[in-house]
Amino acid sequence: MTTRIPLTQFVVKMHSRCDLACDHCYVYEHADSSWRTRPKTVGDEILAKAAERIGEHAAAHRLPAVRVVLHGGEPLLAGPDRLRRAAEELRAALPPGCALDLRIHTNGVLLSRAFCELFAELGVRVGISLDGDRAANDRHRRFADGRSSHPQVLRAVALLREPAYRHLFAGLLCTIDVENDPVAVYRALVELQPPAVDFLLPHATWDDPPKRPSTLGPTPYADWLLAVHELWEADRRPFAVRTFESVHRTRRGFSSLTESLGLEPSDLAVLETDGTFEQADSLKTAYDGAPATGLNVFEHTLDDLAGHPGVAARQSGLAGLCGTCRTCPVVRSCGGGLYAHRYRSDDGGGGFDNPSVYCGDLMALINGVAAYGGAVAVPAQNAAPVVPAALADHQLDELARGYGSADTVHALGRSQLALTRAMLAAAWDASGQGRAEAWSLLAALDVAAPAAVDAVLAHPYARAWAARRLAGDLGTGLGPLAALAAAAAVRAARGDAVAVPVRGGWLHLPTLGRLALPDGEAVVTGTADGLSVRACDGTVRTLLDEPLRRVRLAGGWTVALEDVDPLRDSHAHAVSARLSGGELLDWTGALRESWELLGRDLPGYAEGIRAGLTTVTPLRPGPAGRDVSSAARQAFGAVGIARPATAPTLALLLAHEFQHVKLGAVLDLTDLYDRGDDTLYFAPWRPDPRPLEGLLQGTYAHLAVTEYWGTRTLAYDGLPGEAADRARREFALWRRYTAEAVERLAGSGALTALGLRFADGMRATVAPWLAVPLPAAAERAADRARREHAAV
Ligand code: SF4
Ligand code: SF4
Repeated sequence: MTTRIPLTQFVVKMHSRCDLACDHCYVYEHADSSWRTRPKTVGDEILAKAAERIGEHAAAHRLPAVRVVLHGGEPLLAGPDRLRRAAEELRAALPPGCALDLRIHTNGVLLSRAFCELFAELGVRVGISLDGDRAANDRHRRFADGRSSHPQVLRAVALLREPAYRHLFAGLLCTIDVENDPVAVYRALVELQPPAVDFLLPHATWDDPPKRPSTLGPTPYADWLLAVHELWEADRRPFAVRTFESVHRTRRGFSSLTESLGLEPSDLAVLETDGTFEQADSLKTAYDGAPATGLNVFEHTLDDLAGHPGVAARQSGLAGLCGTCRTCPVVRSCGGGLYAHRYRSDDGGGGFDNPSVYCGDLMALINGVAAYGGAVAVPAQNAAPVVPAALADHQLDELARGYGSADTVHALGRSQLALTRAMLAAAWDASGQGRAEAWSLLAALDVAAPAAVDAVLAHPYARAWAARRLAGDLGTGLGPLAALAAAAAVRAARGDAVAVPVRGGWLHLPTLGRLALPDGEAVVTGTADGLSVRACDGTVRTLLDEPLRRVRLAGGWTVALEDVDPLRDSHAHAVSARLSGGELLDWTGALRESWELLGRDLPGYAEGIRAGLTTVTPLRPGPAGRDVSSAARQAFGAVGIARPATAPTLALLLAHEFQHVKLGAVLDLTDLYDRGDDTLYFAPWRPDPRPLEGLLQGTYAHLAVTEYWGTRTLAYDGLPGEAADRARREFALWRRYTAEAVERLAGSGALTALGLRFADGMRATVAPWLAVPLPAAAERAADRARREHAAV
């Protein structure tokens, strides 16, 4: 059995019992009673097999990351040895290049320093359930003998707030009770400075609806959440709230961050302590046995599970919703709410084919949150900065240092792909939805052959086209959209056909190449044998005249030399024409040599370059051999370069430009600075003042430049010669420039809290370089160069 949508989130039940007896617990107090017959603790064999299943699934689908949540009951009851075993088995089973986001969700009662040490060692982040202030928490979260659990939970949160463990603190999970005071709940939570809070609607169905006290209005859950939202906005969003952020994101065409909102397919699976696979835990609220799949970890793969009708039903987006939801004005944000909340057992309702039992609340909540407009506010200065969900805290910190592992750059790539999808949809919408046939094909392939669509949409100039259309550049028409659909059809090889306009004598298929054809309309068919193109004059062609050429580099990765895509003119410099055979050979040699040099001189940067650099676009040389290179802000993964005279210079240009590529993607995800700031800033290396983003971009790029010269300086280690002297001079100059630029940024007053943290990271990278002793001659040369720059 094959899966259409791979699973990437796994809940592993470590223990099936709990030391609390919360009366709102969906595990023990709702319809499903399967916990009674399950082993208390998950066994070693099951853990090992589960890790193997997740690893094979990640490898088969080339997943860049998976999230695993160690859960319960209360997972800490499983004990440190079992938790260690789970973490180690999971890490060992994942294929290279697949990151593990490992978390534990606990009630906190047993959380101790020893557990925190263990989680720090194993890289496990901790989420804690807490319903607010003492009165709110005591309403439900009590021990079986009625005692409050509040003091123990506060002690657990205090542990996680200690500097040694702060990075482990994933956030708080707060189940709403509308009889709790939302203001008191919010104030109690904000005081704990969590990085995130998930506000959860209590699980309910049409059979067992949520309580709606007569003293409150018709949408008490929306009213409660909107009261919190107002405080949260007034405090300038001191922590992340996925529910609120998802409303803003889905309204702008981005994905939801939570399964309880939006139209994204569910990609979550649950493993119980007896080794059986279940669907989402929330289904326990629907009816006894509702989450069951009949599958287990020993006999079934995760592809089997993803193909289970119950899982598939939660993956069908708009088409899987009831008629009321499909025509609802807020369906893109709401998505019918959490699947379990749609359940109704009577004949007329038909299982899950209903709006959510929270329908009115969801509608009011979405409209209320949307009324704020969704502008991203600057976090309060003294609050813990919130890293967006697409990046883990450590990934942002790694990028701030100038680097970026393969996992981190892949995470940036995924967020860019999502952005490209949203921008293409917006561009198509704004165009009046022309070329509907091409758009429908792209949408159909996105379901049937997502890898083919991903490969085409990851092409850097796909987004560049959407950006230009959205900016009002209509010169490109909708032809590039049709060409994207055609290229995806060729890659999918399912026999789909689509008409593509031919202009200027060329039909261009992104990521593939181009054919010389008469202007008009050509029909491209993707077949099992490749492509078939019927030109407007009736001739049929099956081969590209000018295929996109790729250079294979040491280590087995390839980079495209893009010299055919008409949209490569998105770079700020004139692009080169199709490379001749000789030029191609020169480029191939230079790229291979420069890649070797990057591995040697900039190993901390090379891994990220390999993970994210897909395309080198040859540019025309500058006047008098001046080096020319650029990164286009809207073309993630591409750098434009005029081939320089030497491979070391090419290596330096690749590293420099790829810094811009990474930072551009970070800036799409985060607000590092106040975008309303219109002050101009001098960069130490330029005579003209620039906006803050220009200074930030330049500083970030020069982190790599400084390190390059630093490693060259160390390699020469006091040796004489012009090459060694030049390395020392450049190092002396660029370490000084970069350090000054970091301080200028930090002192600008325009950085957000997250931006200040980013500047801290850059400073931490520059500081050790400043301590490297250099000959006085190198420092004097740097002084001279500095004066000359200032005088220009
Ligand atoms: S702590 Fe969680 S699992 Fe335990 S009883 Fe409370 S809600 Fe249920
Ligand atoms: S608000 Fe109601 S009708 Fe609209 S999508 Fe959500 S559940 Fe469906």
